[in-house]
Amino acid sequence: MAQNILPGATLGVLGGGQLGRMFCVAARTMGYQLVVLDPDAESPAGRIADHHIQADYADQSALDELARRCDAITTEFENVPAQSLRYLAERTQVHPAARALEIAQNRNHEKSYAAAAGLLPVPNAPVMERADIAAAIEHTGLPAILKSATLGYDGKGQIVVDSAERAIRAFDSLGGVECVLEKKVDLAAEVSAIVCRNANGETACFPVAENRHRNGILYQSIVPARVEASVSAMAQRQALALADELEYIGVLAVEFFVARDGALYFNEMAPRPHNSGHYTKDACVTSQFEQQVRMMCGLRPGDTRLTSPVVMVNLLGDLWQPDWTTLANEPGAKLHLYGKSQARPGRKMGHFNSLACDVETALKVADRVYAELARPRH
Ligand code: ADP
Ligand code: MG
Repeated sequence: MAQNILPGATLGVLGGGQLGRMFCVAARTMGYQLVVLDPDAESPAGRIADHHIQADYADQSALDELARRCDAITTEFENVPAQSLRYLAERTQVHPAARALEIAQNRNHEKSYAAAAGLLPVPNAPVMERADIAAAIEHTGLPAILKSATLGYDGKGQIVVDSAERAIRAFDSLGGVECVLEKKVDLAAEVSAIVCRNANGETACFPVAENRHRNGILYQSIVPARVEASVSAMAQRQALALADELEYIGVLAVEFFVARDGALYFNEMAPRPHNSGHYTKDACVTSQFEQQVRMMCGLRPGDTRLTSPVVMVNLLGDLWQPDWTTLANEPGAKLHLYGKSQARPGRKMGHFNSLACDVETALKVADRVYAELARPRH
């Protein structure tokens, strides 16, 4: 049995964005001390931690300090250099492991890893150079989506292409970096399964979320997902299979496409809590952030039961400054703001969860409240 790390101990997190902040809030509520490493003086998590080490993720003396202060370390961000995690892991406990991050950092690696674990990635082919494009299109068909293999998020680094010429231009405009070409799936729905696993191999699964995107950015997560129960069950099984295959310790999010022909395709994974799991903060017995604490501390998974139908709505910088009157007065709406001082279009500033006795009502309230927030102010 892994040793429990108990309240009173100090936990560290690499990355100080909103995911790190919500992790810190959960951990602090449970009685842990928090240290955040993030280069940004104004990082949302750094501002609320007991201690903020303001340095680059590869800064050796900063990593030494983090390791010295912390009983266990996790990450909120998959693009932390794997080398930094390895360095920390020689000094203290680090979960998830560098290897899981390395796989998730590259779309080509994660797709082949998922396939080996028995999941079904969207038909795809790596594109390392222009000369790979013709054969890749043979494999995916058109239209297809060219994505940079690394560093993409919120739909960035993705271009839809409908001919070989366009694919070549897209490849050049992405800077000629390693890419993947994917079949553009005719989507019936998008769902995500968030699972957790501890050092003893104990696992749990949150209810599957149905995700709606706008401009490649998550807009709403609806739970329970309005897909066949067999589809949700398969997504959960596959996410757990991936966690087991990775001997993963932590919270793992897996995004899937449900195609109109019924196929369940693996899209991508995130080795951390996920935007589509923010509903768990108000609508599950255990939130995904508490679960992250529990996993890194060697505790048993918390109860993942859904306590209410829920719709999570992301609040992007495009809305700023919103008029909060309607949302703040809505009995079933729970607002979460990330404490970011600068609002920019597309930047995730916060979210709200709309809870109701059924999903249709939660959705109606969410849409009504959102329309008020988005209404131009005079
Ligand atoms: P990100 O890292 O930006 O989340 P994703 O690969 O998940 O990148 O793409 C973002 C969104 O773009 C997806 O959630 C989906 O709505 C759409 N998308 C991406 N790839 C495909 C595809 N192959 N077919 C159809 N839609 C896609
Ligand atoms: Mg995604």
